[in-house]
Amino acid sequence: MRALSHLATPALWEARREECRRAARALLARTFVQKPSDIDVDALAFEAGGLLIEEGGLESAEGRLLANGKQTGVIRVRAGMALPRRRFTVAHEIGHRSLHSKGVINHTDSPKTLAIWNDRGEEAEANTFAAELLLPTEMVLPRFTGHEPSIALIEAVASEFRTSRLSTAIQYIRCTNEVVALVVSHGWDIEWSQRTKDFLPRIRTGRVSKDSAAGERLARIRPDSGRMVVTPAYAWLEGFDQNSNKDLKEDSVYLDYYDRTVTLLWLEDDISD
Ligand SMILES: [Zn+2]
Repeated sequence: MRALSHLATPALWEARREECRRAARALLARTFVQKPSDIDVDALAFEAGGLLIEEGGLESAEGRLLANGKQTGVIRVRAGMALPRRRFTVAHEIGHRSLHSKGVINHTDSPKTLAIWNDRGEEAEANTFAAELLLPTEMVLPRFTGHEPSIALIEAVASEFRTSRLSTAIQYIRCTNEVVALVVSHGWDIEWSQRTKDFLPRIRTGRVSKDSAAGERLARIRPDSGRMVVTPAYAWLEGFDQNSNKDLKEDSVYLDYYDRTVTLLWLEDDISD
């Protein structure tokens, strides 16, 4: 499979991402994974291409994939990494091996490449693969169902599956039936957002509103929201101004590893007039 960065439509782009997830599920099936504790990234790396995990020897990178095209190779990870970060980094490198090259490969990753989800390049593909490998849809779906949306729910699933909160949030937005959206901001800049299909209003672009919980944290007025809180619609949604009395719910958390704020928006009630 090659990266199809020229794909023009969202439907084709999603089809390519589903291909990445399917490759992850096929690898899981080969190692007889049936429950979260069976997801052993070291065994999966070996099964994917004879890849062995080694720690240390990296100066500024988080992970590095070195393979010679002869069904052997090394995934090197930064020494002393927390387990969820180590697992996600290894899974990302397995993604490159499975999706992008069976031949010689020498690829290095940083927190920046491990945070790319929303473009059409190989890093987003490797992250999509890694999320499905560590958080298989069929296993996380029942855990996400029947609970109100919250960052705490995402953190509980991330903890059980021993992986990153951001990748768990991405899987949550894919799997949930709730009317929610995920917004990722860098400082005061909104970088990208994803909505579930029933979340109809468009998310604002540009700057984070100082009237949102994310904005109040950036301004050091409050810490992370810690739960769903009411926030004015104009703070996050296009088509609403400060005279509107409409609101929605927001739960925001700052992730220092990525230096990004992750915001979960929830339309509990219909917000249209
Ligand atoms: Zn990468």
